[in-house]
Amino acid sequence: MNEFSYIFLFFLVTSLLLKLWLNKRQMIHIMSHRDKVPDDFKGKIDLEAHQKAADYTIAKTKIANLNSILGSALLVVLTLGGIINVLVDVSQAYINNDIWSGVALIMCIFIASHLIELPIAIYQTFNVEQAFGFNRTTAGQFIKDQFLQIALMLTIGLPVLYALLWVMARMGDYWWVYAWLLTISFTFFMTWLVPTFIAPLFNKFTPLEDEALKTRITLLFERCGFNSKGIYVMDGSRRSGHGNAYFTGIGNNKRIVFFDTLIESLNTDEIEAVLAHELGHFKCKHITKQMFVSTGVTFFGFALLGWLKQQNWFFDGLGILQINDAIALLLFILVTPIFTTFLQPISSYFQRKFEFEADAFASTLAKPEHLIQALLKLYRENASTLTPDPLYSSFHHSHPPAGVRIKHLKSLIHSVS
Ligand SMILES: [Zn+2]
Repeated sequence: MNEFSYIFLFFLVTSLLLKLWLNKRQMIHIMSHRDKVPDDFKGKIDLEAHQKAADYTIAKTKIANLNSILGSALLVVLTLGGIINVLVDVSQAYINNDIWSGVALIMCIFIASHLIELPIAIYQTFNVEQAFGFNRTTAGQFIKDQFLQIALMLTIGLPVLYALLWVMARMGDYWWVYAWLLTISFTFFMTWLVPTFIAPLFNKFTPLEDEALKTRITLLFERCGFNSKGIYVMDGSRRSGHGNAYFTGIGNNKRIVFFDTLIESLNTDEIEAVLAHELGHFKCKHITKQMFVSTGVTFFGFALLGWLKQQNWFFDGLGILQINDAIALLLFILVTPIFTTFLQPISSYFQRKFEFEADAFASTLAKPEHLIQALLKLYRENASTLTPDPLYSSFHHSHPPAGVRIKHLKSLIHSVS
C-alpha cells in the first residue's frame, strides 16, 4: 500500500457512490411522475404504457446498481485482494514463455469476470425482460450465445493480445506508438469484419424484400448521395422484442440493418424518417468525428500506459508484487474506468448534440412529423421512460430525453413550413 492505494480507493468509492446516487435520483424522479402521462404525450401514450415504462426502467436501474457494486468489489479483490498475484504465479508456473503466460493471465481474468457477471445477465434476461414481455431468448439459445462469445474472445482476442504484448516486449522505448497503430488497425479491421462475418454468427440477415420500401430508401439514398452495399433485415425478434435500426461497416462495405421488429411496427413514412435521421449522422460526419476522437484518446491512453509501466508506485499501490508488461496492460484496462467515469457527461453531451444535428438533417429529407410518430412508437414499444431524471440523463444518455427531443422536432416543423 502507498499513497496511490488511497487515491485508487478514493476514486473507486466516489465513482461507485456517484453511479448509485444518480440511479437513486433516476428512480425517485420516475416514481414521482409515474401516475400521470406528461402533457406533451397526452393522447399519444396511454397511462398503462407510461407506467410499464416506469416499472421497466426502475427494474433495469436496480440491475445497474447490482452490476456497479459487483464490478467495484471484483476490482478490489483482484488488485488489493491479491488474486492477480496468485494468477500471475500460476500462469508463470505452467507457461514458460513470458508473452504466452501474459496472454493466459489476461484471458483468464476476462473470462472469469464474464462468468462471475453471468448470473446477473441470466436474471436480467429471464426475469426482468421476461416479466415485461421482451424476452424471446430460450435457455438453449442463451447457452449457445455464451459459448459463441467465449469462442470469439479466444479466436480474436488471443492473437491480438499476443501481438500487443509482443510489441510491448520487443519494440523498444516507443513501443506504445506501435501498439497504438496496431490497435487502430485492429479497430478498422473489426469494423469490416463484424457486419460481414461476426454478426451473422448470432443473427440471420436477409436483404430487404419489401419492394415499395426498397424504392423509397433507394430514392432517399440518391437524394443525399449515399452509397451502400445493402439494406438488410435482421431477425432481432429471435432474442428480444426491442426494435432498432443501425448503420454498420466502412467504405463500400457500409450497410443498413433494420430489426424485423422495427419493420413490423413502423410504416413506410416512419421508416424513411428513421433512416433519414441515421443518414444525418453519416452526412454530418459524426462517425468520422467519433473515430477521430477515439483515435486520439487511444493515443493518449497508450502514452499514459507507456509511462505508468515504468512507475513502481502504480503496481505497489494496487497491491501487485511483480512488474511486467501483461500486468501493466491488465491493470490499466481494469483501473482506468474508475477515473474516466467522471468524464462521461462530456461524451454524452456531444452524442446528444449529434442527435439534434441528425434530427435537423432528417427534417430536410423527411417530414419531422413522421420522425415524431416513429419515435413515439419506439418509446412505447421499447418501454423507454418519458420522464428521466435530468441529471441522470445528462450523465448517461446518448440521446436527449423524449420530451426535449420531440420539442426540438416540433420546432423544425414550424421552421420548414
Ligand atoms: Zn441518432
